[in-house]
Amino acid sequence: ANVYGIKDWGAGYFDLSNRGEVVVRADFPAGPVEISLMDIISGINDRGMAMPVLLRIENLLDGQISRLNTSFRKAIKTLDYQGTYQGVFPIKVNQQAQVIEEVTRFGARFNHGLEAGSKAELIIALSMIQSTQSLVVCNGYKDEEFIELGLQAVKMGYKCFFVIETPAELPIILRRSKDLGIRPLIGIRLKLSSRAGGHWQDSGGDNSIFGLTTNQMVDVLDTLKAQDMLDCLQLLHYHLGSQIPNIRDIRAAVRETARFYADLVTEGAKMGYIDLGGGLAVDYDGSQTNFIHSKNYSLDEYTTDVIEVLVEIFNDKNIPHPTIITESGRATVAYSSILLFNVLDVNRYEPGTIPSALPENSPELLENLWYVKQNMTLKNVQECYNDAIYYREEIREQFKHGNISLRQRAFADNLFMDIIHRIAASLEKLKRIPPELEGLDEVLYDIYYGNFSVFQSLPDAWAIEQIFPLMPIHRLREQPSRRAILADITCDSDGKIDRFADLHDVRKALPLHDLKAEEEYYLGVFLVGAYQETLGDLHNLLGDTNVVSVRINENGSFDFVREIEGDAIWDVLSYVEYEPKSLVERFRAKAEQAVRDGKITVTDRRNILAAFEASIRGYTYYEK
Ligand code: PLP
Repeated sequence: ANVYGIKDWGAGYFDLSNRGEVVVRADFPAGPVEISLMDIISGINDRGMAMPVLLRIENLLDGQISRLNTSFRKAIKTLDYQGTYQGVFPIKVNQQAQVIEEVTRFGARFNHGLEAGSKAELIIALSMIQSTQSLVVCNGYKDEEFIELGLQAVKMGYKCFFVIETPAELPIILRRSKDLGIRPLIGIRLKLSSRAGGHWQDSGGDNSIFGLTTNQMVDVLDTLKAQDMLDCLQLLHYHLGSQIPNIRDIRAAVRETARFYADLVTEGAKMGYIDLGGGLAVDYDGSQTNFIHSKNYSLDEYTTDVIEVLVEIFNDKNIPHPTIITESGRATVAYSSILLFNVLDVNRYEPGTIPSALPENSPELLENLWYVKQNMTLKNVQECYNDAIYYREEIREQFKHGNISLRQRAFADNLFMDIIHRIAASLEKLKRIPPELEGLDEVLYDIYYGNFSVFQSLPDAWAIEQIFPLMPIHRLREQPSRRAILADITCDSDGKIDRFADLHDVRKALPLHDLKAEEEYYLGVFLVGAYQETLGDLHNLLGDTNVVSVRINENGSFDFVREIEGDAIWDVLSYVEYEPKSLVERFRAKAEQAVRDGKITVTDRRNILAAFEASIRGYTYYEK
């Protein structure tokens, strides 16, 4: 069954077992191996790691790097392209040491390299890259130190390109390379006139903050020519923006860039590399459309289209086919991480028991509301709804004036809730739903409290309303009986998820199962491997989650290859410049004072301090 659209967004990596659990699938020559996420969770629990946990499945990162490279190789062969493909992974998309280590390890067989956007990232790239055959592409604003480091790498035999983003960089590159006697590898970042739809459209187009205008490009050409260094200019780069949903935008950008490339060759630049940046999208909602959370093309269509356009333009102008670089980040790492958390509690918007008669001496407004409830039929739902809203408002108003007591107001609120529930239930029986009543059921959705922080683990869900697939990872053979939105534990009104992936649409509630008394209910947020980890913040001082990395083996087993403990309260306090040790000291002094004042005993003091110490060393999330 395709519950929660898992087959649509799962890209073949996620599916359902006949136990009704989500399984992760890893491909092997002898066939796929499936592992249940519940088995992984039970291993996590056995190891004493608490939820929430960010789970990394290294096979999926391997799988995506393979798919990308294999798809390009296939298209190159089919369309008789004369150059090769050599991707680079943009470090900014997930800088975690473990992720970069995996990218370089799995990428080695394809000479898949790294893209660095800052000095810190260049340091990571130069240390982690496995072979001099893999490329290192330097984007971003570069100072002398950055440039010197890159030049030394070139001297060591690494193909480390400086992509000129602003005209100011060229003089520094020329000066430092002369000083050091090293010929640089230079690229130019293009400001395309093509733009793409989606969240990140400002990365392309005339107003993008990075890239050279055509006039600036001509200046670069002239400067290099004058210094007899045109042979150093070998690469042309653009980045249209991340998550480009429409293949037409991708084709248009490739076409425009190929035209520039051809003219740079004609101008006498040595060239050899065309770098198409990132943008390869992830189908977060599984709709395969040009909706911003999706994409209207498959990986094979992407690679085929790119090559087709290049072949057409270069053959037409008799330009030798360059090496194609892409800087795909999102599509490379999104699949490999899953946020797992348990549900702590549920808040239901349901009326309590309603007595069979109105209490004596009830105010008239309450009598009116009672009357609405007693006299509702299918024919007058709209009228009842209006009346109920009116009387509830009046009752609240009278409460403010002291004419209605807390108990009377509670009774009214309960009555109102009962009426709304009845109306919502009757809507299903109506042929035509009055416009005012549309979306009425939204106020009745449950709130499921999840043990996680949106701000720490899913920052894009909050900042740009990014949709991630979210679903229970077990009990999937049971019909979910509740409709819910999710709240995190930050106590911030923005700390919630109330938009969910649905084919061709965003739905406002997630079907979920009733909680069971003796059993945890686990939810997973999928495709969270790109951008979420370092963009996350310490809102309410909820820190990094525990991270567990798993490798699925060909024989059907799996190993925990790494466990990284998340932040303890001690850690997050020090991030905001407290000295945890001195906090303990201060609190100890307070406890001592309380002993002196006779408020607590020495034994109390010991217990209190023990509790304080246990807290400060504990996990920042809800602990059982
Ligand atoms: N290259 C550059 C220059 C970028 O700025 C980015 C991020 O937006 C990327 C590559 C990665 O893009 P994506 O994650 O869409 O593949």
